[in-house]
Amino acid sequence: MRRPDVWDGAWDVFCDFDGTISEKDMIGQIVKRFVPEEGLVLVDRVNRHELTVQEGVERMFGLIPSARFDEVKSFAISHVRLRQGFPAFVRLCRRRDWRLTVVSGGFDFFVEPALAPFRDEIDIVCNHIDDRGPTLKVVWSTPCDAACEGGCGLCKPAVLRQRRRPGARQMLIGDGVTDAKAARIADFVFARDRLRGECDRMGIPYEAFETFDDIVARLEGAPGEPEVAR
Ligand SMILES: [Zn+2]
Repeated sequence: MRRPDVWDGAWDVFCDFDGTISEKDMIGQIVKRFVPEEGLVLVDRVNRHELTVQEGVERMFGLIPSARFDEVKSFAISHVRLRQGFPAFVRLCRRRDWRLTVVSGGFDFFVEPALAPFRDEIDIVCNHIDDRGPTLKVVWSTPCDAACEGGCGLCKPAVLRQRRRPGARQMLIGDGVTDAKAARIADFVFARDRLRGECDRMGIPYEAFETFDDIVARLEGAPGEPEVAR
């Protein structure tokens, strides 16, 4: 088990978007607005692990006619609210020369505009929507690799594995079930909401947070050494 003495040193930070950087889960908001009945049943089934995230999200968007995609886009863009403290957190990463990658199971049509002010500072891994058919089709950017049991849609642990580099530790920041598999292989985890329960269930140590101010305070204060999730 590796135990870093201090936060100093190279960290690669992987941060979820939906419900983590954005206050609300945008996929959830879109589903609630555009396919409330059938869509919310699918959200519940994913949260209960009855459907994989991949199956759930593909089916949810498959319920939305492509003719409504423009409406979906403007709804999402106008409803994104960034969580308190995110700009300060981006500045902290830049100051420390930490690589910040936003890893989102969501889509470029709302993630890119929301993060445009920070675009030079961050790398973004997210998905795309194909609207050429009758209904929306999800195009996953990073499918599961051989080390994953599958079903992620966008495979966050695969993104961490692809980007692991010698001498740098990996930090994961997230809120949901889609972050759980990545939390298992990260060196340090900040968790809120459902990810806390998932980490408890899997015995993964984590630091709880509500806003990015909490994370910045923890990273700047650094009382004692961080617990390490492995
Ligand atoms: Zn996977």
